[in-house]
Amino acid sequence: MEDKYSILGRCFGHSSFRGGQEALIDGILAGRDVLGVMPTGGGKSICYQLPALLLPGLTVVISPLISLMKDQVAALEEAGIPAAFVNSSMTSEEFRTACGAVRSGECQILYVAPERLENEGFVAMVGSREVSLIAVDEAHCVSQWGQDFRPSYLRIAGFAASLPRRPVVAAFTATATQRVQEDILRQLALREPLRVITGFDRPNLCFEVLHPKKKLPTLLSLMEQRRGKSGIIYCATRAKVDQVAQALKEAGFPAARYHAGLEDEERRRSQEDFQYDRCPVMVATNAFGMGIDKSNVSFVIHYNMPKDLESYYQEAGRAGRDGEPADCILLFSPGDIYTAKFLISHGREQGEGGPEEASRQEQELRRLEVMIGYCKSVSCLRGYLLKYFGQPHPESCGNCGVCRSERREEDITIPAQMILSCVKRVERRLGYYVGPALILRVLRGSRSQRIVSLGLDQLTTYGLMKDKDRRLVQQYLDCLTDKGYLFIEEEHGTLRPTASADGVLFRGERVQMLTRGASRAGVAEEAPEAAGEERERPRRMSGSGRERGPARRLTPAGQASGGTAALPQEGETLIDALRRKRTQLAQEGQVPAYVIFSNATLADMAHRVPHNLEEFLQVSGVGEVKAGKYGSQFLTVIAEWEMAERKRRLGR
Ligand code: ADP
Ligand code: MG
Ligand code: ZN
Repeated sequence: MEDKYSILGRCFGHSSFRGGQEALIDGILAGRDVLGVMPTGGGKSICYQLPALLLPGLTVVISPLISLMKDQVAALEEAGIPAAFVNSSMTSEEFRTACGAVRSGECQILYVAPERLENEGFVAMVGSREVSLIAVDEAHCVSQWGQDFRPSYLRIAGFAASLPRRPVVAAFTATATQRVQEDILRQLALREPLRVITGFDRPNLCFEVLHPKKKLPTLLSLMEQRRGKSGIIYCATRAKVDQVAQALKEAGFPAARYHAGLEDEERRRSQEDFQYDRCPVMVATNAFGMGIDKSNVSFVIHYNMPKDLESYYQEAGRAGRDGEPADCILLFSPGDIYTAKFLISHGREQGEGGPEEASRQEQELRRLEVMIGYCKSVSCLRGYLLKYFGQPHPESCGNCGVCRSERREEDITIPAQMILSCVKRVERRLGYYVGPALILRVLRGSRSQRIVSLGLDQLTTYGLMKDKDRRLVQQYLDCLTDKGYLFIEEEHGTLRPTASADGVLFRGERVQMLTRGASRAGVAEEAPEAAGEERERPRRMSGSGRERGPARRLTPAGQASGGTAALPQEGETLIDALRRKRTQLAQEGQVPAYVIFSNATLADMAHRVPHNLEEFLQVSGVGEVKAGKYGSQFLTVIAEWEMAERKRRLGR
């Protein structure tokens, strides 16, 4: 009679058990229900596959993904273990063969999707044999609090109870949260289960968060360093998946893609190409990967930040299952926060809108905060993860982006004062705030026509950072934004000081910036800029929030142009154009200019850039009468200014 050790070696080719495996296997063999919580790649499958070979009756494995069953069964058969699956994708011929094997007792392990339990014929067929074990893989799918809730999982308990003799029920998940675990115990009606929760650490995974200004070049250089290796790139949306996959292809990295918007056929093919290494790289939404059985994935890159840390750990954990060193890299940008919030508030198709839905959203927002905290963590990333999963951890792991980089705190109070005062002075000069790109150029003493024509070269803060690298100044700007001394106003992307800026300017508050040295991922924090340093358009900035969508409109500080009275002049700002219109109207109507519109009103107009009467009415100082009287004339000036601006830009 074979025992567990000989089966482990003979059938699975392993010399010893990993943490948790033996206890779970012993529990099952002793007839106890079990809950096994192990990280992805921890080796959960063996915990039910091995007992299946020692138990007298059939083992039914409930697994959420039809697409994987075939491979899992093939792998078992490869190992000489009689297994079968039934699912909706098979031909009636295949179905009959599988059922025959089950009935005859030839098949020891049967894989099914939970939906199958709704089929009476199937239940009857299974009931014709003694069922020794029901193994519930990815058991967190039974919980509404998990990320992959599958209503059919709720039927499992009833199915187990309906069998002539209730089999052992064994549940497995990588989800560590207490709430989900409690849900699993309850929803699956486990009886006095043995709970085995192994450590969550995956020492071979190197965690890293990068904050690239531009993700795509960063991704490409990461890919370049990993040519020929297998990896997964997760994106937040289907559109992003398509876009990134396309860009990779154009850059010579063959990549498969996977998301719920693709035809079944393409999804199946993609998954297969990846699984079989015909295509080493997969670009996918989180629809891809549950139960993925590929052990040689050597990197998982998140192109966007996931919604919560559980999802992140599970997805990232698909790297390095073979125990080899692997990288889990997250490319963070503040825009990801916006996307995640959007997905949370619009994510559920049939949002009931009730109090339950509201509390769920609240919960999801809380989990998002934890995720954001990870992205911004300046202490050990592994420590952050393990702490969240309630596991003790050392202060520094030595194998994450933070621990591997040389960090130092730098006092940047002086440059911070220069920047904050520059922002204020530009505003005082122009009467409105401008985008970060222009501030950066003023600080670095750019001689561009725009700066000269706006008179910004006359400011005392002009050229204060002439000798500083553009990227460094940009880093200062980002740091001040991150720390809340500056913020980017959403609509026009202008950079504004917050109330706390005064603390630095007038009350001696000091500013520290954490600088990072080289990281293991081997990419500079900032990807090299394609264009030269003189960028005309404000750079899409942190805080603007939008990952996609139309290019941001130029700030009112954008250059303008204009002829004499009515025609825009080269280099003219919108506010200048508006002022000229006001002068003209004042002359025609023989009234003082301020009677038409005050300076504040023009400034607000230049800031809001209204395109129709309704928007025009929003401008402070514009009532209905004035809107009716002057609206169309000012709107025309704005339209002409914008057109000239567009032409000028195209003409470059
Ligand atoms: P999980 O389902 O927990 O994510 P798997 O069951 O797919 O993990 O196992 C992950 C990898 O670990 C597989 O490649 C498997 O062969 C390997 N593995 C499992 N148990 C052992 C063991 N005791 N010794 C060595 N490798 C193992
Ligand atoms: Mg598994
Ligand atoms: Zn660390």
